[in-house]
Amino acid sequence: MTNTAAALVAEAKPAVFWSDRPDAPDVAPALRGSINADLCIVGAGFTGLWTALLALEENPGRRVTIIEAEVAAFGASSRNGGFCEASLTHGFFNGLSHWPDELATLERMGEANLTAIIDTAQRHGIDADIRMTDQISMALTQWQVASLAEYAEIFTAHGVRHTLLDRNGAREIIDSPTYQGGLIDHDALALVDPARLAWALRRVVLELGASLYERSRVTSITQDRNTLVVTTEGGTVTADRVVVATNAWAEPLRQMRRYIVPVYDHVLMTEPLSTAQMAAIGWSERQGVSDSANQFHYYRLTADNRILWGGYDANYYYGNGMGPRYENRVASHELIAGHFLETFPQLEGLGFSHRWAGPIGTTSKFAVSFGRRFDDRLAWAAGYTGLGVGASRWGARVALDLVDGLETERTELEMVRKKPMPFPPEPLRNLAIQTTRRAIAKADRTGRDGLVLRTLDRFGVGFDS
Ligand SMILES: Cc1cc2nc3c(=O)[nH]c(=O)nc-3n(C[C@H](O)[C@H](O)[C@H](O)COP(=O)(O)OP(=O)(O)OC[C@H]3O[C@@H](n4cnc5c(N)ncnc54)[C@H](O)[C@@H]3O)c2cc1C
Repeated sequence: MTNTAAALVAEAKPAVFWSDRPDAPDVAPALRGSINADLCIVGAGFTGLWTALLALEENPGRRVTIIEAEVAAFGASSRNGGFCEASLTHGFFNGLSHWPDELATLERMGEANLTAIIDTAQRHGIDADIRMTDQISMALTQWQVASLAEYAEIFTAHGVRHTLLDRNGAREIIDSPTYQGGLIDHDALALVDPARLAWALRRVVLELGASLYERSRVTSITQDRNTLVVTTEGGTVTADRVVVATNAWAEPLRQMRRYIVPVYDHVLMTEPLSTAQMAAIGWSERQGVSDSANQFHYYRLTADNRILWGGYDANYYYGNGMGPRYENRVASHELIAGHFLETFPQLEGLGFSHRWAGPIGTTSKFAVSFGRRFDDRLAWAAGYTGLGVGASRWGARVALDLVDGLETERTELEMVRKKPMPFPPEPLRNLAIQTTRRAIAKADRTGRDGLVLRTLDRFGVGFDS
C-alpha cells in the first residue's frame, strides 16, 4: 500500500455508486397485521425479484407477496460489479470440477438464461445499460500464463469460443504493464448497471400485481398444517408456498446456515476518465476483465467511463458476521487501491469517487445451492458466490420448480438435488475458512496448490473458478 493509495481512498465517499442516486424508488410500506398469499418471497434482491416476475408471468392470478428486511436490492444485488455472465456454476472451470457430467446441460441452460434476461429487459422496457461484451482473464505471472494456455485447450475440447493472447496481444487491448498474457471468452457476458436492473425488476413485479413490504425483517417461518406462517416484527403472512431468497443472510432458516457463509467483497469506483486518460489505456471494446489468480480483481467501465475495480480481499467474520461495521474496512480498500495504481500507472492522479463492500453468499462449491423444508412447501436458493447477477434468474426458476412440485430437467440435476459439503459450526468454521484463505494466498504466490487445497480438492471442495 502506498501513501497515494491511502490518500485516494480517504477522499472516496463510503457509499455504493450504483444506488447512490436521487432516483432510487420510494420505500414501500412495512408489513402490519396479517395477510394471506399464494406465494411469499423473503428477500428482494435479484433472486426474490426474479422469483416474483417468473411466477407472475406464468400465472398472472397468483397472489405474490415479497417481504424485504431493508429495501429492494439493499444486499449484493446493488453492490456488485455488474458482470452478468451466462455461467450458472461460478465459471466454466468450477463447473467442470464439480459437475463434469452435466456441465454441457448447465452451459446450455446458462446461455438460455442470459438470453432470457436480455429478452425480459426488452419486453418490459428495462433500461439498465445492458451490453454483451467479451470477458478477458489477464495473466499477471508466468504460472498464470501457463494456466490460461491449459484453459484454452480445455475450451477448445468443449467447443467454447475463445482467443488466447500473448503479452503484446493483451496490452493492445488494455495497456497495463502488469499483463503477461490473456484469455478471451467471447460469448458469455453482458455488463449491466445492477441497481438499475434490480429497481426495474421491482417496478415490473409491482406492475404485474405483486405486493412488496420493505423494512420488514422476517424473524421466523413456521408450518401450521397446510400453510406456512412468515413472521416479521409487525405482522404475518400466511402462505401456501415460500421461497427464501436472502442469500448471504442465511438467518430465517437454520438449515441454510450450514451451507452458506457470508464473505465481504470490496469495491472502488473511480471518477470518470478524461478522453486523454481513456486513450492512455485503450479498452475501446469495453470488455469485462479479471486477473487470473485465485484471489483476483475484476474491473469494467461504466457508461460514463469510470472504472469499477473490485475483488481480491474477501473477508469472513466469526459467526457468519454481517452488518454495516464490515462494509467500511479501509485496509481492504487501500490494498486494492494500491493494486489499481500498479495496474494502471498512467492513471496516476485519477481519484476514486466511491468505495463500498457487500456480502457474497458462498458455499463449499462456490455456486448456487438449493434446499427444501416443510413438506417441500418452502425452497431456498442461495450461495452464488461472485456470480449471481445472471445465475439468480435461474436460481429463482429452480426454486419455483421446487415449491410447485414440478419435475423438470432442472430439478433432475445433481447440482440441484445434492447439497455441497456443509461448513462446520464455530469455532471450526472460522478456523477452516481462515486456513483456506491463507492456503489460497500462498498458492497465488507460488503458483502451486499446497496440502490444504489438495486435501480440500479430494473432498470435492475445489477452487477452479
Ligand atoms: C461486492 C460484490 C460484487 C459482486 N460482483 C458480481 C458480479 O460482477 N457479477 C455477478 O454475477 N455477481 C456478483 N456478485 C454476486 C451477486 O451480486 C449476488 O450473487 C446476487 O446479487 C445475489 O442476489 P440475491 O437476491 O440472491 O441476494 P441479495 O441481493 O443479497 O438479496 C438478499 C436480500 O434479502 C434481504 N434479507 C436478508 N435477511 C432478510 C430477512 N430476515 N427478512 C427479509 N429480507 C431479508 C436482504 O436485505 C437482501 O435485500 C457480487 C457481490 C458482491 C457483494
